[in-house]
Parts: sequence; structure tokens; C-alpha cells
Amino acid sequence: MQQQIYWHTTIQMPDDSNLTPIPEKVDVAIIGGGYTGLSAARTLAKRGAKVVVLEAETIGWGASSRNGGMTLTGLKVGMAAILKKYGRDLARELFQCSLDSVSTVEQIVEEENIDCEFARYGHLLTANKPKHYDALKEEVEFMAREFNHKVHLVSPQDLRSEIGSDVYHGGMVDEVSGGLNPAQYVTGLARAAEKAGAVLCARARVNKLERREKRFLLKTERGSVEAESVLVATSGYTGNVTRKLQRKIIPIGSFIIATERLSNELVNELSPKNRMIFDFKHYLNYFRLWDNRMIFGGRAAFFPETVNTIKNSAEILKHEMIQVYPQLKNTKVEYVWGGTLDFAFDQMTHVGETDGIYYSLGYAGHGVAMATYLGKTVAEAMLTGNIKEHPFARFDFPSAPFGLYTGSPWFLPFAGAWHKILDWVE
Ligand SMILES: Cc1cc2nc3c(=O)[nH]c(=O)nc-3n(C[C@H](O)[C@H](O)[C@H](O)COP(=O)(O)OP(=O)(O)OC[C@H]3O[C@@H](n4cnc5c(N)ncnc54)[C@H](O)[C@@H]3O)c2cc1C
Repeated sequence: MQQQIYWHTTIQMPDDSNLTPIPEKVDVAIIGGGYTGLSAARTLAKRGAKVVVLEAETIGWGASSRNGGMTLTGLKVGMAAILKKYGRDLARELFQCSLDSVSTVEQIVEEENIDCEFARYGHLLTANKPKHYDALKEEVEFMAREFNHKVHLVSPQDLRSEIGSDVYHGGMVDEVSGGLNPAQYVTGLARAAEKAGAVLCARARVNKLERREKRFLLKTERGSVEAESVLVATSGYTGNVTRKLQRKIIPIGSFIIATERLSNELVNELSPKNRMIFDFKHYLNYFRLWDNRMIFGGRAAFFPETVNTIKNSAEILKHEMIQVYPQLKNTKVEYVWGGTLDFAFDQMTHVGETDGIYYSLGYAGHGVAMATYLGKTVAEAMLTGNIKEHPFARFDFPSAPFGLYTGSPWFLPFAGAWHKILDWVE
């Protein structure tokens, strides 16, 4: 088994030998070259703005080339909780944004001719316990009533038509969700941003961000750039250059294994409709097929990716995969990798502007479609100056309770244990 991001074997990796020089002056400097930054850059450049994307590693290096490729409706927080907390009107707007986010990916893939096998495969949410299935029954009714959104139940007896596993107690399908190859998608998005006129600078970690009267100076390892506005698009890798934002984001690890290629018969048995599948647990598993491989992920360790957390996660994930699919007992796992998620303290995604610096953060593992969409719509709001009206800017971006967090997540082992307890008792 190799510690390598499987998706990277499906693309031409960027060539570092000829780095694009950093421009002296731009209208907008974007920190972070993932879906958020690239989608924003594409939108801004198409409207005639001079844009640079500054990426610490290679373009697409972060979560955007490591994820499960599930292009999902909804948000990390359930819509019932969102409706209760923010009221019906805002909840409806936020849910509509999630539907628009999947359409935005679809449109960009089509317009820019991005070869990433995007399709509306639909997602399947599985019930780990009988009472989860009861909750799903309510969810189907609630989504139709409050959001006019049709999702359908799959009874325990019918579950084999959706998944070749007997461990679940039914499920729920949303046909609107899609799936794609994340590395192929981010590579295509980068090409589209460049085609629109954005300058993409890899190996350009921003070490300092200074305010210079009405402009900003961004200092990187290989030169500085002056910008009129700045967009922070650093997700789970947000560092102390933007300390105020760093203190609002908890970096959490998520890990994936990819098996060897499976036979067509086995593929048809494991996931006959090629769904994007995830379960009901707090310590959840998410999985799907791609190129006849089972891509099986989970929050196997709470701390972000290191050689050790990746190694331990491989064992845990293989064990969990076999529990779901005993058919894979003797299947070889060929790749394992990890990436970092960005959780806000309320698990919501947040956009806005603070001290003249714009941001879009807190995707909580739900960012393939949403980061694309928010990159685009935050860029539009930057051009019109009305970010405060954006649906995701209309609620508080909370800090840690009692200010007990400086960016180093000391509490993660406790949070991990707490989630395990919740899965056990709930
Ligand atoms: C293992 C895993 C599985 C996931 N699965 C799914 C899924 O199936 N579906 C889904 O919807 N979401 C999923 N997600 C979440 C999704 O991938 C992210 O929400 C999304 O990619 C965030 O995009 P982004 O552009 O905001 O951030 P990223 O792609 O993480 O990019 C941020 C970039 O900022 C750069 N950076 C940080 N600091 C600096 C600096 N000072 N200077 C310059 N650059 C800097 C980093 O190097 C990084 O490349 C998953 C995430 C992980 C890690």
C-alpha cells in the first residue's frame, strides 16, 4: 500500500521547474489555490479584474485534490437544525444555494470542457441503526414540506438495489447530488481561471499580509504583490497570516483508501447505481466507486494528515470497509492518503469581510460544490461591494467559547472520543 493521493495518479502533476513570476500590482490577490480561490479567480478575471492566486504548494494541493469527489446538496448541518436556528426564509435561501452549487459545478464543467467525469449519480445516506431510519422517514417528509425538495426512502428490504451490503437499516436517496474526480476537476478549474486571465502562482506561500493605506501588501517566499482587495481561501490550512480567521477554524483530518481495481460484477454488486454513499454516524464513513476501485473514506483520526495518522487510518478504514462490504476481505488496498477539513465552531460555512479582507471558510467536509459556488458568488459580491447581503454572510461567525482557542486544536482527542460516545449511545 502506498501513502499517495490516488487521484494524483489520474492527472498530469504540475511542473514546478518554471514558476510564474509574481506580479507587482493586482486588483485582487487570492490566498489559496483550491476550488474557492480558483473559482473566484475565474469569475473576477472574466469580469476584467487583474487577479493573482497565491498558493503555498502546487495549485490544487489542498483538500481540493484529495477529497471524495462527492458533489452534494445540503450543508454539513442538517436543514431542520438550520431552519430552527435561522428561521424559514434564510434556511430556504441557504438550501437553494446548495442546489445552485451543484448546478454551478455542472455548468463550469460543461462550459470549460473539464474532463472529470462529473455526473448526477445521486447520494445515498444509510441508516446505521433502526432509529436512524425513523429519522430518515421524517427527513423525507420535512424536505418536501419545507424546501419542496424530493428525496426518497429506501426500505431495509429494498436496500440491495442501492448497495451490496447488509449492515444498514435502510437509507435515503437524493438524486440531485453528483460525483466527480476531484483532482481532474481542480486541474480543469485552474486551466479555466488562467484562460480567463488570472495569474496562478504556485510555491508562493503568503508569509505576511500588511495593510498599506487603502491597499494590501502580500509578502511571499518569492516576491511581494500589492493588491486592492484580498480573498482568503485557505480552508483547513488557514494559518497565522490571517490570525483572526485561524482562531475561528478547527483543522480536522479526513482520510481515504483506494482499493485495487475490482471486477465489473463486483462493482455492480457493491454499488449498482454508482451512488455517493455516506452513513449516519458522527464518526462517519463515506464511499463511492471510481474506475472500478472502491474509494472509502472516514474521519479515522481527528488530527490532520501526517505519516502516522495516515498509516493508522489505513488500518482503521480497511477494517471499516470490510464491515460494510465483507466481499472486499481479500481485496488489496493500494493507496491511502489524508487531507484537512475546516470546521467552524458552529459547523456552518461562513463568508464575509473583516478589516477589508474577504473570506470563504468552514466547509466542514462539504465543499466540493459549495467552495466552487461560494468562490464565484463571493467574487461577484466583491465586485459589487455587497458581501453583507450574501446568504452565508447573514449570520454570526463564532469564535471559540471563552476564547479558548488560538489555532492549535488541543481539544481534538476529546472531540474524537465524544463523537465515538455519541455514535454508541444515540
Ligand atoms: C479527505 C477529504 C475528503 C473530502 N471529501 C469531500 C467530499 O466528498 N465532498 C465534499 O463536498 N467535500 C469534501 N471534502 C471537503 C472539500 O474537499 C473542501 O471543502 C474543499 O476542497 C475546500 O476547497 P478550498 O479551495 O476552500 O480549500 P483547499 O482546497 O484546501 O485549498 C486551500 C489552499 O490554501 C493554501 N494555503 C494555505 N495557507 C496559505 C498561505 N499562507 N499562502 C498561500 N497558500 C496558502 C493551501 O496550500 C491549500 O492548497 C473533503 C476533504 C478532505 C480533506
